[in-house]
Amino acid sequence: MVSYKTLGLVNTKKMFAKAVKGGYAIPAFNFNTMEQMQAIVQAAVETKSPVIMQVSKGARKYANPTILRYMAQGAVEYAKELGCKKPQIVLHLDHGDSFETCKSCIDSGFSSVMIDGSHLDFKENIKLTKKVVAYAHKHDVTVEAELGVLAGVEDEVSAAQSHYTKPEEVIEFATKTGCDSLAISIGTSHGAYKFTPEQCTRDKNGKLVPPPLAFDILKAIEKKLPGFPIVLHGSSSVPQDEVDTINKFGGKLPDAVGIPESQLRKAAKSAVCKINIDSDSRLAMTAAIRKYLAENPSHFDPRQYLTPARESMKKMYIHKIEKVLGSKGKL
Ligand SMILES: [Zn+2]
Repeated sequence: MVSYKTLGLVNTKKMFAKAVKGGYAIPAFNFNTMEQMQAIVQAAVETKSPVIMQVSKGARKYANPTILRYMAQGAVEYAKELGCKKPQIVLHLDHGDSFETCKSCIDSGFSSVMIDGSHLDFKENIKLTKKVVAYAHKHDVTVEAELGVLAGVEDEVSAAQSHYTKPEEVIEFATKTGCDSLAISIGTSHGAYKFTPEQCTRDKNGKLVPPPLAFDILKAIEKKLPGFPIVLHGSSSVPQDEVDTINKFGGKLPDAVGIPESQLRKAAKSAVCKINIDSDSRLAMTAAIRKYLAENPSHFDPRQYLTPARESMKKMYIHKIEKVLGSKGKL
């Protein structure tokens, strides 16, 4: 058993309470490579922002759970080395699929876990979440649960259709499970293809404009659970310039579309205190690598193309912290 506290990590409790009060959201960036980790830490230190580094089941499979845990520990030490005396870094499990997965993360140094029982019926979701909460709270680890289903594909998590969270269910769910935060479905979606062209309208340049988020549902949930931390998954914006760069240098991502940043800014000012961003980092990395290799066909040292890729991700993370989430200077 390794406690996250000995690794220098923190849980989400205090940072969420502060974020809900302060009208901003904490960035939750997925990571599974060293370059992503470095870019996240550099961005968080430069902007003096708390940050959640999260790993999905796919990331655990790709990088190995032990390595990821040491990378998170390394992230804390790296932040200190960069001049941040008291970094607030959370190591969070994204979309935990079972009690066993959550337990193994808690036992190996995670400070926060998500148990995703959203595919279960309401009663079963409560039962599973409650079991995880009981174990997690014994170790001062915070738990995110989910009600409602997001559409889209993210690693092993996928659903064809979204089902919005029902505001009339949230009080019973939060009370019975004792979860610390709740991921809801109000129209965000996993992946780089959040909406089909049929679900969108087109602007005058022919670019897709996605349907707006269901702010009325968010409002109704806030009314039922005043001050309770709300989480938005699937909140990448799929920047068009990155998609264009990828397509220009041999990629093929037609009609990729995300959530407009103006919508996320509005959400961050509410009880939404954690916003998950994964696809935008993947796009920034891939665009930079494609461009570099196309322009430098004789280069083959990975450090040559991973350097601009890391820079590009860092720029994107800083942009999100400053312009979308509002967590700059909130350490
Ligand atoms: Zn998710």
